[in-house]
This record gives sequence, C-alpha cells and structure tokens, in this order.
Amino acid sequence: MPDAEAIESVPESLRLPAVRQLTGPIRSLVAVALILLFLPQAGRASAQPVPQDRETADAVLADVGYRLTVAAAPYCSKRVHRPGFTIHDLSQYSRRSQDMIARRYGFRSEPLVLAVAQGSPAAAAGLQPGDAIMAIDDAPLAPREPGSHNSHARVARILDQIDAAASNGVLRLTVRRAEETRELRFALEPGCPTRFQIRSDDSIEARANGSYVEVNSGVFGFVGDTAELAALVAHELAHNVLSHRARLHADGEANDTGAIRATEIEADRLAVHILDRAGYPPEAAIAYLQRYDRHHGLDFLDSRTHPSEEARIAIVRAEIADIAAARARGEAPWPQFVPHPSENADVEPISDSQSR
Ligand SMILES: [Zn+2]
Repeated sequence: MPDAEAIESVPESLRLPAVRQLTGPIRSLVAVALILLFLPQAGRASAQPVPQDRETADAVLADVGYRLTVAAAPYCSKRVHRPGFTIHDLSQYSRRSQDMIARRYGFRSEPLVLAVAQGSPAAAAGLQPGDAIMAIDDAPLAPREPGSHNSHARVARILDQIDAAASNGVLRLTVRRAEETRELRFALEPGCPTRFQIRSDDSIEARANGSYVEVNSGVFGFVGDTAELAALVAHELAHNVLSHRARLHADGEANDTGAIRATEIEADRLAVHILDRAGYPPEAAIAYLQRYDRHHGLDFLDSRTHPSEEARIAIVRAEIADIAAARARGEAPWPQFVPHPSENADVEPISDSQSR
C-alpha cells in the first residue's frame, strides 16, 4: 500500500486531474511575507521554507521542476525545450467551484498562465501568472469542451501544442493582460520532458508515471525547505529519466519487489547528481529522508520495495562522496549506471553551461 512505501507509490495510471482547491484570501499576504523574509541568495539555489497555500506551492513547484529538468538534460535520452511556465484551465476545476474560480482568476475561454519559473526565458521575456494565452505560434488553442470539469484533457492538449511549437527552440505566445494583447517571443532551454502537477491530498507522497511527476499538496507543509522539496522531486524525476516504469513493465517485473527496489536505489543515486547540477545541496536528500523517518518513526511495517531510510541515507552519502572524488580527480561527476551521452547516438551533446 502506498503509505508503507517510503516516498512514493506509482499507480497504474496517474489519476488526472488533480482537483484544484484553494485556501482563501491570505495568499498575497503570505507571498509578501515570504518575499520579505526569505530573499533568495545569489547564485546558489536558496533553501527557503515552502509556503503551504496552494498558489504559492504551484509557483515553487514550477521553479523546482524547471530547474531540475534543465539540470537533468544530460541524463535524458529524449529532450524537449522547456517552456518554463505552467498553465491552468477552468476545465480542471470541479463544476461547483468553476464560477468562483472564474471570477477569482478572470477566466474566459482561454487557459491562464499559472506560474512562471524563476530564471526561465519565459520570466525574462515578461510572461506573468494570470496572462491569458490566446495563440501559440499564431495557432489558435484547442477549445474548451462545453461543461467540462475535473478534466486535464484540455491542459494536456495545450501543453502538447506548446511542446510542438517549442521544438525549434523558440516559442511565440500571444497573451492578453489587462485587456491588452501582447506578443512574447523567447528562446528556450533544453531539458527532460517531465511535467509536474500538484494533487490535492494531505498525505506525504509523490509519484512518477514516466511522463508526469505528481506531488501531493501535503508535501508542501511537510518539507523543511525548497531544497528538501527538490530532493523529493529529483527522486521522482530520476524514475522518469531512467524510464523505470516502462522498464519494469517491459521486463515483466512490475510486481517484482527486488527489481523495484533496484530502481529505487538508482533513483536515489541519480537524484543526487541532478540536485548537484541544479545547484541544490544534495545533502537535502538526507535531510528529507531523516525528516520522513522521524515522521514515520513508529511505522514498523518496512516496505519491501524501498530500502529503509537508513540504507537510503547511506546510498545518498556514497553518491555525494563519489561526486566529490570525481571533482578531486578533475573529472566531471557522472552516475556510473547512466549511459554517457557519447554512448547514445540519439542524444545530441548540449552545453554544460546552465548547470552549476
Ligand atoms: Zn521512488
């Protein structure tokens, strides 16, 4: 059962959509307080407490997801140009909340920008949360099905449209902001293709299904800071990067606890490299596991698919030591079990410049 699995469960099919729930009018006050109290340090990804209100959580996940997917690009056999922003649409919300949501966000027929990742080209181009997306490379958007609710279908179609338009490395958006139409054009960074979303669920879980990483809303109030959140997300992203789910199914090992455990160890190891490249302290993975262990301290039901927190911490420490040793030898760190790009003809080399 999911609760017995140390960090995440991987359901047969990701239950989409996450029904979005909002937490009230304190959002802007919380956001201002956070900005005042926790100004980011320059350069390194700063460790900031993670806000628990939903809209700021969306913004934090957009930041973390963008930073990690771009940093993980060298490990991915398939890459996309990361848009650097997330969207939402009225069709995702429950029928009874739609009137309130439409007034609150100003929804008309278009999807709205939900969050723009810090440091992304989209942010540099001036894209803002709340911008209504009217066209992508001059093409109209997939329409909203009348009466649709609790549905991720339109958002998924539009994200596909964005990925297709971005395949040449440049994205052109027509947006409406305060009744003004403007066109934004920006070059994009390559990254791994995983998409991110939040599920309204208080339990401390996240999951990966090969193409999405979904984080429960309960995680945001549990982690100590954004680096710990990044550690959890990096572990899930690593599952997708390494195609674990597809591999387990292809090998007939989807229910083989030994095979699953091996993928968990790989995900923990690769996550350390992804965090390091993204500028998060990899030790945050240890802090997260210790926090999780304290939280589940009375849970004697050991998971058969995940090593114990103690064993996982040792795995993380060993990988951190490997990275330090590689640097001491003057070599670029590389996880030993991941094919190097030069060994994979499908992967074009990319610049190392956006990491570290
Ligand atoms: Zn896992």
